[in-house]
Amino acid sequence: MKALHLQESCELHVHVGGCLYADDLLELGRDIYTEVDWSLFVSSYERAFGVRPDPERLFREGLRSEKGRECFRRHYVYRQEDGGDFGRFQAKFDLLICLYRYWAQHLHREEEVLWRIVERHRREGLKYVEYRAMFGSGDPEHFLHFHRTNARVFQQACVRDFTARYLISLPRGAALEGYELVQHLFAESPELIPSVVGLDFCFFEEGHPPEKLRSFFARLEADNQRRPEQALEVAYHVGEVFFDKSLESAVRWCHQAARWGARRLGHAIALGLDPEVAVARRPGAHEAEPAGERLAQITYDLEQARELEAFGVEVEGGRLRQEAEELRGGSAGESVCRPYTPQRLEQVRRRQDFVLAELARLGVAIESCPTSNLRIGGVPSPSRHPLWRFLRSEVGLVIGADDPGVFDQPLAAEVDWVAAHAGMGKRALARRLGDPRRFRFGQQRPS
Ligand SMILES: [Zn+2]
Repeated sequence: MKALHLQESCELHVHVGGCLYADDLLELGRDIYTEVDWSLFVSSYERAFGVRPDPERLFREGLRSEKGRECFRRHYVYRQEDGGDFGRFQAKFDLLICLYRYWAQHLHREEEVLWRIVERHRREGLKYVEYRAMFGSGDPEHFLHFHRTNARVFQQACVRDFTARYLISLPRGAALEGYELVQHLFAESPELIPSVVGLDFCFFEEGHPPEKLRSFFARLEADNQRRPEQALEVAYHVGEVFFDKSLESAVRWCHQAARWGARRLGHAIALGLDPEVAVARRPGAHEAEPAGERLAQITYDLEQARELEAFGVEVEGGRLRQEAEELRGGSAGESVCRPYTPQRLEQVRRRQDFVLAELARLGVAIESCPTSNLRIGGVPSPSRHPLWRFLRSEVGLVIGADDPGVFDQPLAAEVDWVAAHAGMGKRALARRLGDPRRFRFGQQRPS
């Protein structure tokens, strides 16, 4: 048995659409590519890359020759050279969304797309997968249909040595509305409850502080206690792309997401990327943030000055209160600019240590997705990957593929990559990571 077989066979961070490989798209598009509405892909690709793609031609030539296939891949697979940019990633992802929509809305055969994904995972030797997916529009009927179909296929996909579970991704800006719909789904299709074990927050995180979800988390907690048999746990993408704010705020967001109730954090690069590396990524990176964020940071620091000080973080109460006073006189949207000094960078390192220790204490795991972080998370090189810092800490850690099809990297390749770069033997790595299934959702439900 391979040393890392538990890690290679358990996938806890994967988005349904992102599981489709370029070859899957070519097959799914073979007979219909001239009928698909590609406008979403064409416009977002043009916006992100400055080139207007011709999807029909990409399919025609991709299906005809190896050279065409390679060109198709270049337009779909998100590579290192595409640059750490979420908009560019989304543009490539939109290719699969256009195709999926045609299969769902015109052919009403979206189950076939899902089965293709499940079958690939079974072939790869995965034993346990938690899939997550987001429905793009606010239409309740379509939202319910989309998630019902997904949950049903994943339920049917379970066989003796393969278990699939489903997490419903909610829009960050309308979490409670989405949550109500999930409750509606449960009431209407109770047979799906065992398969739907959690909720997820993904997509752009900038502009969506976890603080805003406190009432959502409170409601979820109350419902979970009232009806433990259908309790839902939360996976939360945070600290992945955070150029809109200071490093202190990015670290705080990770802490707050865990504190309000998320059970696993997606990426949390902000907790493991060295601050000096983080600020060197762009000129002036992380120096400016809205006054409202700075104020939230000051409130946070004052509230837990003692805990922070235990990790060597200096909290100067008097000075912070005065700064807060001044900030309250201005507008929350105003930009506050604070350049970094070596001392401040060192303080951020200590904040990272503090929050990593807090996550360990709370039993909240980080889902780290190596390739995704290098290609869209702005991690500049393998040696700078936040994983190494996580491994040195006590935090619970799982490895995920995120979007294996879009990155052309299955989970086993991600685990191999970690083993090759971690600077520790495979057995030691396997021991440090332990069985990722201990972080699977649904365990708090009464059996
Ligand atoms: Zn993700």
